[in-house]
Amino acid sequence: MTTTTKARKRAAAAQPEQIRVDNPATGEVLTHVPNLTAAEVAEVAARARAAQPGWEQLGFEGRAAVLRRMQRWVVDHADEVARTICSETGKAYEDALLAEINYGAAAFGFWAKQAPSYLAETRVRSAQPLVAGKKLVQRYRPMGLVGVIGPWNYPLTNSFGDCIPALAAGNAVLLKPSELTPLTSLLLAEGLAASGLPDGVFNVVTGTGATGSALVDEVDMVMFTGSTATGRKVAAQAAQRLVPVSLELGGKDPMIVLADADLERAATHAAYYSMFNCGQTCISIERCYVEAPVYDEFVDLVTKKVTALRQGVPGGPGSVDVGSLTSPAQVDIVERHVRDAVAAGARALTGGQRPHREGLWFPPTVLVDVDHDMTIMREETFGPTLPVMKVADAQEAVRLANDSEYGLCGSVFGRDLERAEAVARRLEVGAVTVNDALVNYTALELPMGGAKPASGIGRRHGKEGITKYCRQQSVLVSRWHLRRDLHTYPYRASRTRVLARLLAVLNRGAKD
Ligand code: NAD
Repeated sequence: MTTTTKARKRAAAAQPEQIRVDNPATGEVLTHVPNLTAAEVAEVAARARAAQPGWEQLGFEGRAAVLRRMQRWVVDHADEVARTICSETGKAYEDALLAEINYGAAAFGFWAKQAPSYLAETRVRSAQPLVAGKKLVQRYRPMGLVGVIGPWNYPLTNSFGDCIPALAAGNAVLLKPSELTPLTSLLLAEGLAASGLPDGVFNVVTGTGATGSALVDEVDMVMFTGSTATGRKVAAQAAQRLVPVSLELGGKDPMIVLADADLERAATHAAYYSMFNCGQTCISIERCYVEAPVYDEFVDLVTKKVTALRQGVPGGPGSVDVGSLTSPAQVDIVERHVRDAVAAGARALTGGQRPHREGLWFPPTVLVDVDHDMTIMREETFGPTLPVMKVADAQEAVRLANDSEYGLCGSVFGRDLERAEAVARRLEVGAVTVNDALVNYTALELPMGGAKPASGIGRRHGKEGITKYCRQQSVLVSRWHLRRDLHTYPYRASRTRVLARLLAVLNRGAKD
């Protein structure tokens, strides 16, 4: 054990035994959950390792049957799951239903169906003479034990979106949910057990960052979703054991409105996708650049739409449009970004002031007269804010959109689709949308991830969203061969001359 590992284990041992879970919209204490120590995480990991081979041996069909039963369980328990999510995140009921229940249920079905084809063995052909006639196969085997560390903004989507393909591939999984939102994971663990998942295959290890750090020391692969700062720490720790890491980190997604855009649609999407989930989505619209000729009209439209939003404590369906924030630290960040922007000359056309009320609140806010020296245009705000900036043309919009350490997603609005798409393709981000935003995330076939390191490394969704949980194995079978291969011992000048002539012919290359 290294000195740093010992220090981390000592720190974990000094932790309180329980963590309190609050409803961020009301301040009410919901419950307490265990704050697992490094020794406890190690015990769970050992049980998971013991359970993994049986799960792998079930094969794709056996595992898919469990995942499909779980898909039905999510649908049957949609209201209970949505209310659990709302209670620990403060988000609106529809935000939970659309972006969590809908995504989660679809994901259980998707990976059950796609795992066999994404992980199918493939026959490989080679032009190399030494392997002529031999069977060459590329195959995938599960890593063994995968560790998933999740954030608080989407306790179902962002944690289970990664656990499901890991399970479908035949791994056992340890999930460390955010200490702010562990209840959804615990509820879904009950669902998985009720759906027939063998004991020990999926395990929720609740706790703080120290518990997450302990998990990194136990697993064969780490899938981390969270802030760029923590992602860096996780990658550095995993590097000590040389275990692979996939990171989904922060974003500062730009939206560009071209002069020919359908302004009604652009304003509706700007309002919705900047305020959805109270702005706490890694691919939220975080900043907006509008071509000068339509700037005033766009600002007017979007301000009206944002002003009309009903924010409050989420009740059932339709009760509010925007809920509360989830993390106490996040409200402080949002307030600081807005306050600093206003101090530097920005104007809040709606919102802008943190209210005095119980719970974690900041109102939907539209800011104008912003510039690129302001923190709100450079750092991830992760709150209900929409700073809008006038630009001379698309050229300037692209330059400013790319002037960021982040590169997760971006969107462009314009009626001339060819031009809008050409502008979109110039954005240095992992995914772009034209006349739309965020919905690309629901296409599980479409890879998703950062284009710049601050937004992460690796992909979720698509083939890479499951192969990353596997070790590749290449297989060669020599089915027929000479009694003795020409190139083997003993070396003889006559055979070497034949081989040299053969290699010269083969490597001469095709004629132009
Ligand atoms: P965070 O980095 O504070 O915490 C994420 C998780 O890491 C939590 O479970 C936390 O307990 C754990 N953790 C903390 N310290 C750790 C350590 N040293 N070792 C291991 N685990 C540790 O992030 P957050 O505040 O929960 O989430 C918000 C962030 O997540 C935002 O930056 C957002 O952009 C990002 N995010 C990204 C995506 C994406 O797909 N790219 C999706 C959702 C959220």
